Amino acid sequence: DPVAEDASVLAGLPAGNLNEAESKAIFARFGVPVTREHVAADAQGAAAAARELGDEVVLKVLSRAIAHKSDIGGVRVGLRADEVPDACVTMQQRLKDAGAPALEGFLVQERIRGGVEMILGFHRDPQLGPVILLGSGGVAAELFQDTTLRLLPIARTDAEAMVEELKAARLLRGYRGAPAADVPALVDAVMAFAAMAGAAGDRLLEAEINPLFVLPQGQGARAVDGLAVLR
Ligand code: ADP
Ligand code: MG
Repeated sequence: DPVAEDASVLAGLPAGNLNEAESKAIFARFGVPVTREHVAADAQGAAAAARELGDEVVLKVLSRAIAHKSDIGGVRVGLRADEVPDACVTMQQRLKDAGAPALEGFLVQERIRGGVEMILGFHRDPQLGPVILLGSGGVAAELFQDTTLRLLPIARTDAEAMVEELKAARLLRGYRGAPAADVPALVDAVMAFAAMAGAAGDRLLEAEINPLFVLPQGQGARAVDGLAVLR
């Protein structure tokens, strides 16, 4: 039972921002579905990881010091394994030229296709206490203020109500011929994330999944990015 996990999940991890792989490993322990992925130390390791993962992969820089990877050219979506080594070299050189901090390595993950991009967040409000946020992700997130908040703990009916409050609810139900999304899987992800926030202990300051891809009905949801902040 993943929800039976506790604060020991955070043992040995440093204070501050964790990198994407570390963050999503925590989320996965509490039952949040995440991308299949491998951490690689260098271009050769990244290519081997890509061959194992399938036709098309996503390559990302792995660094606790870089919270917004795409801002600095640290995300390449849709690479074949044979394109990965050059992409690693180019990425690393660009970061070096930009004076970016040292990397922990590369993250190679499966490419997720289709679905609706959402944001799932957790923080501790100084006045209110632990709060969970659900909203539209991706480009839509920047254009429309489409978010909803709840104090923790929440029941499944609360998570379902959060989904219904969003403008994105129409998208999730299947808008203009697009397939309906797996809303039960989204609700499951909200519940797993909320359970994590309750069980991980006081060291977990903040957590964010941006984006969470909600796939067509029956195909689940996948966290493709993740950030956890510890104290
Ligand atoms: P950032 O640190 O810049 O937020 P992300 O990991 O969120 O980086 O990647 C940026 C964007 O690239 C995402 O918002 C998503 O649209 C796309 N992306 C990232 N990972 C994947 C993936 N595994 N499959 C498909 N698209 C992805
Ligand atoms: Mg992101």
